[in-house]
Amino acid sequence: MDKPEFAPETLAVRAGIERSQFNEHAEALYLTSSFVFDSAAQAAARFGNQEPGNIYSRFTNPTVHAFEQRLAAIEGAEACVATASGMAAILSCALGLLKAGDHVVASRSVFGATIALFNNILGRFGVETTWVELQDVDAWMAAVRPATRMFYLETPANPTMELVDLAALCMAARQRGIPVVVDNCFCTPILQRPLALGADLVVHSATKFLDGQGRVLGGAVLGAAQLLNEKILPILRTAGPTLSAFNAWVLLKGLETLKLRVEAQCASALALAQWLQDHPAVASVLYPGLPSHPQYALACRQQAAGGAVVTFRVPGGREAAWRVIDHCRLISITANLGDTKTTITHPATTTHGRISADERARAGIDEGMLRIAVGLEALGDLQADLQRGLSLVNTASQR
Ligand SMILES: *Cc1c(COP(=O)(O)O)cnc(C)c1O
Repeated sequence: MDKPEFAPETLAVRAGIERSQFNEHAEALYLTSSFVFDSAAQAAARFGNQEPGNIYSRFTNPTVHAFEQRLAAIEGAEACVATASGMAAILSCALGLLKAGDHVVASRSVFGATIALFNNILGRFGVETTWVELQDVDAWMAAVRPATRMFYLETPANPTMELVDLAALCMAARQRGIPVVVDNCFCTPILQRPLALGADLVVHSATKFLDGQGRVLGGAVLGAAQLLNEKILPILRTAGPTLSAFNAWVLLKGLETLKLRVEAQCASALALAQWLQDHPAVASVLYPGLPSHPQYALACRQQAAGGAVVTFRVPGGREAAWRVIDHCRLISITANLGDTKTTITHPATTTHGRISADERARAGIDEGMLRIAVGLEALGDLQADLQRGLSLVNTASQR
């Protein structure tokens, strides 16, 4: 069923199925740490990579393999390696592609733990990172050194919703022989396929939209089979940041509804963004699906929709922003995203609270900024929940 002539939604429910002797209809969950061999010779052949097959669930498990096949089919990737979490996927890319003395150029606007991973942990092992403005392709190229071995980014950026022209950046990187790694967590393959635009590897936090129901942690690295087999799979086999079979099974079922969920959440996010833009208590809205977004044309070209995350600003700084949050009764106050339950967060004091005010300003984050990750509740209920706090925002200090 993995043939590319099938649409993503078909692949999402059909790809990766390999039935056991019981002919089960749903995907089987193989909770086993190891696998038995018919003979000593077969064990030797499996361990020596002369015979394909399962050995030990740190690096081979049929349920995990089914998830890898299904996600690869949806992402349009040749291969996929599943990991324990999104951070494990990013770490596996770094361990697979980099060594001491290497240099990375990365977007300033990436997930907070990713910044800490590159600066604090990989830095200790002799990997240096230069942080650049996401959308400025010239800045990326100007930061390149002879030792540069990786470009790393997310688009759209969190929480500022800036984009980079992936095709342009990947082409420039290719001319210099530098692999591009894209964290596609925000868009999912339903909205954006970085590999088709020239990226070398895609990473996912499957914890977010791929599960989509806030149940398990997981991650994945996708790309060409040769690159994954040579660089990423050995990291899983030797270092062990492996996805559990149970979580893989939950994620398999998550993928089945990915397109339905993402499309519904995007439609709701667009409607909410339009409503916020027209709201007298809102100073500005940052959403790639709105014509007011400075990179709207690029967003239309690069993404199938604007995404499920809406950022907006209220006048009155932290006090006003916190008031909006604290008057929510329905929307969850949490920094998580990609869930069917809508969430709201104040980036300046949560996801980006540990960086300096200077760094925050440079990343375009201010105290009046709020980020909503839209779920599947009725739009009217979300609007009513936000209206309670917005009605208290002092619009006199606006703009
Ligand atoms: C959550 C997140 C991660 C980390 O994923 P975990 O599964 O929590 O380890 C990485 N990148 C982005 C964009 C995320 O939102």
